[in-house]
Amino acid sequence: MTVAAPPLTKIPNYIDGRWQDSTASEWQDVVNPATGDALGRVPLSDAQEVAKAIQAASAAYPAWRRTPPQDRIQPLFKLKQLLEDHLHELARIITQENGKTLAEAKAELRRAIENVEVACGIPMMMQGYNLEDVARGIDETMIRQPLGVVAAITPFNFPGMIPFWFLPYAIACGNTFILKPSERVPLTMRRAIELLAETGLPKGVVNLVNGGKAAVDTLLDHPKVRAISFVGSTAVAKYIYSRAGANGKRAQCQGGAKNHVIVLPDADMKMATQIISDSAFGCAGQRCLAVSVAVTVGEAQKIFRDSITEAAASLRVGNGLDEGVQMGPVITAQSKARIESLIERGTHDGAKLLLDGRQAKVSSADNGNFVKPTVLDGVSAEGDLTDTEIFGPVLSLVHAPDLDDALAFLERSAYGNQASLFTSSGSAARRFRYEAPAGNIGINIGVAAPMAYFPFSGWKDSFFGVQHAQGRDAVEFYTEKKVIVERWAAEHSRKF
Ligand code: NAD
Repeated sequence: MTVAAPPLTKIPNYIDGRWQDSTASEWQDVVNPATGDALGRVPLSDAQEVAKAIQAASAAYPAWRRTPPQDRIQPLFKLKQLLEDHLHELARIITQENGKTLAEAKAELRRAIENVEVACGIPMMMQGYNLEDVARGIDETMIRQPLGVVAAITPFNFPGMIPFWFLPYAIACGNTFILKPSERVPLTMRRAIELLAETGLPKGVVNLVNGGKAAVDTLLDHPKVRAISFVGSTAVAKYIYSRAGANGKRAQCQGGAKNHVIVLPDADMKMATQIISDSAFGCAGQRCLAVSVAVTVGEAQKIFRDSITEAAASLRVGNGLDEGVQMGPVITAQSKARIESLIERGTHDGAKLLLDGRQAKVSSADNGNFVKPTVLDGVSAEGDLTDTEIFGPVLSLVHAPDLDDALAFLERSAYGNQASLFTSSGSAARRFRYEAPAGNIGINIGVAAPMAYFPFSGWKDSFFGVQHAQGRDAVEFYTEKKVIVERWAAEHSRKF
């Protein structure tokens, strides 16, 4: 007898302090990329549902804005503890819906928690400044006030971390907040918001709506939404930045990347190999700070080429929940096909395949979207691969005679998310720090991810806006300045 499979769990929205079943007409499966198993059904919420969330956030705003900052951070202290207590459970959800290893999932949650901790400093960070007697008897004061309703739209690759680049700062500053997570990985924030709901946060202060383009467009066009934070691909970042701008909204939009590392001959090659291997292939290359192109200088070429190929070949690929697995699958079957076709294009343009990760077989997970680590040597400067974000476990090697020529590769790139240098020379490091055209710089570091109290500083096509995510930039982004100039006639004070 065959037994019908139970219906897949429908993922609700969180609006006005309640989990609500979506009325969406379109739904999509959430799929475990390591196994192909469906984990749930996510609604592509329509404009009406998103408007309900905006209404709830708008209604909650006046009281939340009047809540003293010291009181606004109390739910965040509780949230920090809940995230600590549920770290393992949340990490498992991340691994199941995103594919990265459990260790990688735990690492991203650590950065999420760090952002909650930093936002707990709002009573200090939100302060303004003042000066007495800017003219005789006149005083001037700058205060920061929240904006109102703000929204964040986030990508698939850090389901548990990226929402926390925004949520804690937005609400600690007195705004009310709407999250639209990636429809490919909605389960992690579903659980995280359940935890947030346990903290006693008033209803409507944080809302979550699942969806895709229609939900995003409603957030972009609704007059009550004052600011948009976005992280995702460059094409969508540009679209969101321009549409938010046309509607008079503040926007910070982090886009795609193509990160370069330069390896000088005086680098510690063993350390460089290990760190660059982790950067290029960790999270299956689906990190916006993943090294994608390694530029070797002079004699570094041969030794690095051999050592990185060996390191890449030794990585254990599989289901991220399995013990000992070092690299998981890529997010979808379409992603796998796209990455494999880019590898093909690279070889067509003259690159030599030192390690080919296509047609990867992972015995424990037949239906997973696996691409194994791939190393291409001698990628042509004019070829498609040089400019295209691959977002998979593929490292391209190019060679330069000196640091000048190596830096020219970085100058040519449209992106500027991260650039790294491996060297033991202080002067080369200083020159690199000074000249490299990217917003996050690593010196002997492979993934130069800023701590929560520093801005996540992409440049060029990797970022559109002024204030970045995290830390002081987040406080600037989520508040507007008000300047008060005051004069009080002296004779009034003599009465008292
Ligand atoms: P994506 O651009 O496809 O999606 C990001 C978000 O935008 C999702 O919530 C999605 O629903 C929404 N979206 C997608 N298409 C849209 C459209 N046409 N109109 C409106 N909204 C739309 O990105 P992704 O594939 O989820 O994430 C991977 C990308 O994110 C990579 O390019 C990566 O480099 C980038 N990324 C950048 C950073 C950074 O800090 N710069 C960090 C992480 C990821």
